[in-house]
Amino acid sequence: MYRAPRGTTDILPEQQAYWRYVEQKAARICRLYGYERIDLPMFEDTGLFTRGVGEGTDIVEKEMYVFEDRGGNSLALRPEGTASVCRAYLEHGLHNRPQPVKLFYIGPAFRYERPQAGRYRQHNQFGCEAIGDADPALDAEVIDMAWQFFFSLGLGLFTVVINSIGCRKCRTEYLSALKEHYRPHIDDVCPDCQVRFRKNPLRLLDCKNPRCQPIADGAPKSADYLCLECTEHYAEMKRHLGILEIPFKEDRRLVRGFDYYTRTVFEVQPEAGGSQSSLGGGGRYDGLLEELGGKPTPGVGFATGIERMVLGLTRENIPVPPIPGPEVFIAHLGNEARDAAMKLAATLRRKGAAVLISTGGRSLKAQLRQANNLGIPRVAIIGEDEVRTGTVMLRDMTTSRQESVPVEKLVELVV
Ligand code: AMP
Repeated sequence: MYRAPRGTTDILPEQQAYWRYVEQKAARICRLYGYERIDLPMFEDTGLFTRGVGEGTDIVEKEMYVFEDRGGNSLALRPEGTASVCRAYLEHGLHNRPQPVKLFYIGPAFRYERPQAGRYRQHNQFGCEAIGDADPALDAEVIDMAWQFFFSLGLGLFTVVINSIGCRKCRTEYLSALKEHYRPHIDDVCPDCQVRFRKNPLRLLDCKNPRCQPIADGAPKSADYLCLECTEHYAEMKRHLGILEIPFKEDRRLVRGFDYYTRTVFEVQPEAGGSQSSLGGGGRYDGLLEELGGKPTPGVGFATGIERMVLGLTRENIPVPPIPGPEVFIAHLGNEARDAAMKLAATLRRKGAAVLISTGGRSLKAQLRQANNLGIPRVAIIGEDEVRTGTVMLRDMTTSRQESVPVEKLVELVV
């Protein structure tokens, strides 16, 4: 027996209502903030991510699904969406449209991670990107949008955590200060941090290993090393969050897993759970489009995992609108009735009613049981008499009451 690969999940019909609910809320919020949908390939040239997300990141080094296709090209299943959106922006000359170009996507991302609750090897992301404008008001708008999205889902308490990690200019000075701080402790930190020290020092701050905490806590903070422009950008962004009345916390240790971030970074965290279970996150990536071969173009965005929303909704028992099932079940007895039933089902469906018709030669009792198990509210029963008189016996499954109804009337009743 085959099983779904480790870290992947099947979304069964009974879970679909949660997924539709989240997708509809996502589409609604995007409409309110002026984002249009873009659909992107699930695999890209590997180089897009090694360049974009960054060579020294965990995602690229340890988690990416990379393969060679039959033509000898190195491709990667996308581990995230931002790099692909930026690639599409450049490829289709979207800089010619009014800026910022606001795009959203919903689709799978692949990361070879250690599976656990809320962490999968294939998960689905809803993400938004606003490309072509460096205004800090846009950062605040993206955070506001993320906040309103989680709020509209009805999820319990969550917190927006923000930080600024500066631009390429001020980051250089900050990274040397950070390394100077870690250098004397390098033998005391975990093996991962020893690698981060060499390859990706910013991520030192992100380590969850208890033995690294005192060193990370005492480390210099990026916000203290911002250049004048970045300081002003950060202050303006916070001022806009104030106007928008978005409560936020500053975490001066917050950094994110990708190299492309500049200036604003943020996460939305559930009040219980902490950063390991973040609901969503994002930030500004002013250097990314240039890194991918375009002209210097600023951008800001956020992404969230749909599985985590669905987990939250089920955990908190939040009711979601059910997906409507069939309105009527057609039961039949005998060959002639079966033909009439098929014809009736076709008529009803062509007029827009959702209909199930019994298949196989089951007894009436079995057919009624089937309709009941499927939760279909009405059953139209057709036997020899009904065929002759052009009627059906319409049974209300809640009251078990039955009445003879002409076929034309049934069409009116259920459509
Ligand atoms: P990231 O692209 O790492 O910033 O992640 C954005 C959001 O995607 C996170 O806040 C999570 O909600 C979700 N996410 C990231 N990785 C996973 C994963 N392996 N499984 C499920 N959800 C994930």
